[in-house]
Amino acid sequence: MKISFLGLGAIGRPMAARLARLHQLTVWNRSADRATSFAAEHGARHASSPRDAAAGAEVVITCLPTSADVLSLLDGPDGLLAGLASGTLFLDCTSGDGATTRRIAERLEPLGVDFADAPVSGGTNGAEAGTLTVMVGGSPAVFERALPVLSGFGKRVVRMGPLGTGDAMKAVNNMLLGVNILALGEGLTALVKAGVSPRVAVETLNASSGRSFVSEALIPDRVLTGAWPRTFRLALLDKDAGICLQMLRELGLPAPLLERAGALLHEAREILGEEADYLEPIQLAERRSGAEIRG
Ligand code: NDP
Repeated sequence: MKISFLGLGAIGRPMAARLARLHQLTVWNRSADRATSFAAEHGARHASSPRDAAAGAEVVITCLPTSADVLSLLDGPDGLLAGLASGTLFLDCTSGDGATTRRIAERLEPLGVDFADAPVSGGTNGAEAGTLTVMVGGSPAVFERALPVLSGFGKRVVRMGPLGTGDAMKAVNNMLLGVNILALGEGLTALVKAGVSPRVAVETLNASSGRSFVSEALIPDRVLTGAWPRTFRLALLDKDAGICLQMLRELGLPAPLLERAGALLHEAREILGEEADYLEPIQLAERRSGAEIRG
């Protein structure tokens, strides 16, 4: 299949690499050097603009920080709309927001372009391994078209409901991820202060009822070891928490715990900066308590 992939960031690049093995791939990236190096490494074509990427593609996939970034690629002489043909399938793998997703769909509809939001979960390791979970918002017919494409990097590809519900699912998932990160920072530093060895605390937690994906998969590999790799920017997790809170407000639902977690993630982003990793709020808990989660 002729697929064009736009956005070769931390997660986009390994997703596109999976597709390059299976399809005739074209790539575009805002900073062109990332696209030229990818094209050389994976035997893909490097498009000179979003319009060039869209022209002749059967499927267009975007993976950018926000839905607003995707919207910004539509217009202008070199924009996506200038290159898209009727019948093209457009899948947005950005962790986006439902309102902007629907605006994008409204712009694509008159062109006869099928559209779905299809955010992913599973991290850069999951993208490399092709084991991502993909949360799709779109009609059953569009989902059926999208499934074989998304299976190139997704192990579990699920239709959540109509347009925007993939975004909703992803936002709630990542808010819960953020809650777990913040809670583990506070809980584990308290245990260390109380005299428990960090490794014993984590191992015991992981054999008990307070465990989570963060305590089982991330803390042992990245925190106890002191490795702290940067794979997913805290700024993006804060963006996801903001999308979740906005959705709760629109639904008229009070969410005191999630509001507080969102405020703490935002504060951590302001302190740690735009390039900090999403686990680094744990370093703030370490600094505050004077206890290190290492061992
Ligand atoms: P990065 O910050 O690593 O990369 C962002 C990519 O988007 C880069 O290719 C960047 O181009 C491009 N970009 C940024 N702004 C614009 C713009 N205005 N117009 C065009 N291109 C732009 O992000 P990730 O790859 O980590 O994340 C992408 C999406 O996937 C986000 O929505 C994120 O929340 C989600 N996600 C990320 C995961 C992860 O583990 N990293 C896991 C699951 C979801 P340039 O190279 O020029 O900077």
